[in-house]
Amino acid sequence: MIIDAHVHVHPDRDGMGSGHDARVDSLLREMDAGPVDRVVLLAEAFDVPYVKAVSNAFVGRRCLEHPDRFIGFASVHPADPGAADALREALDVYPLHGLKLHPRFQGVAIDDPRVEPLAALAAERGLPIAVDALLWKPTPLALQMPLRIDGLCKRFPEARVIVSHAGGFRFLDALALVVANEHVYLEISTVLRYFLGTPFEDQFMFVLKKAGARRVIYGSDHPQQPLNACYAETREALERHGFTDEELRWIFGRTLLSVLPEAAR
Ligand SMILES: [Zn+2]
Repeated sequence: MIIDAHVHVHPDRDGMGSGHDARVDSLLREMDAGPVDRVVLLAEAFDVPYVKAVSNAFVGRRCLEHPDRFIGFASVHPADPGAADALREALDVYPLHGLKLHPRFQGVAIDDPRVEPLAALAAERGLPIAVDALLWKPTPLALQMPLRIDGLCKRFPEARVIVSHAGGFRFLDALALVVANEHVYLEISTVLRYFLGTPFEDQFMFVLKKAGARRVIYGSDHPQQPLNACYAETREALERHGFTDEELRWIFGRTLLSVLPEAAR
């Protein structure tokens, strides 16, 4: 079972920026043609020029249609006073098994008090919280810093937190989060490919080895990264750096399954 933990879809072909086909049918065709068995579909509660909002209902309905292939994560905007109610409603209506928050695009730091009711609800329902931590333009970097996830972990020590993009340029900070907190996981989409062939490739692999395969989760960031080519390239790179077959089984699926609630496994 190979699972890709970071995939976007959108009703419009260009919903993830022109040049990327974000339609569900295109994703399903790619899955049919390759080894990836299941993917996490991420709702996105924001609207920025190169990523359009994706509603919980849209993701939830796709998960109802393809329960054997799609695992849905909900998203709400922490600055919305009705966010907790909206999240509760989405989780009650649809088979959504995680919460995605996005400091980079939502402009709200993950240790902001407005995140607390959302994190409390996710923790209460046993859902992992995926937090974008790529560090990329244009939101103030101070709001995006991966170390701010530590505040969330200390406030909700039982919450399982997935660091999306493994901290980006601050991947050593992401490792510090893993060392300091029992339930933090590194999801490696975009950033592993970004550092391949650069002076930082070895350093990034060092972080993954120190974190350990049971704390590392594979993701592609499809459609901004090609689903099957990204899988093949990531697998080749991890093998080249000495990860064993057993470790690869964790990175390409088992670790994610271990943090999902029972109903999603
Ligand atoms: Zn993404």
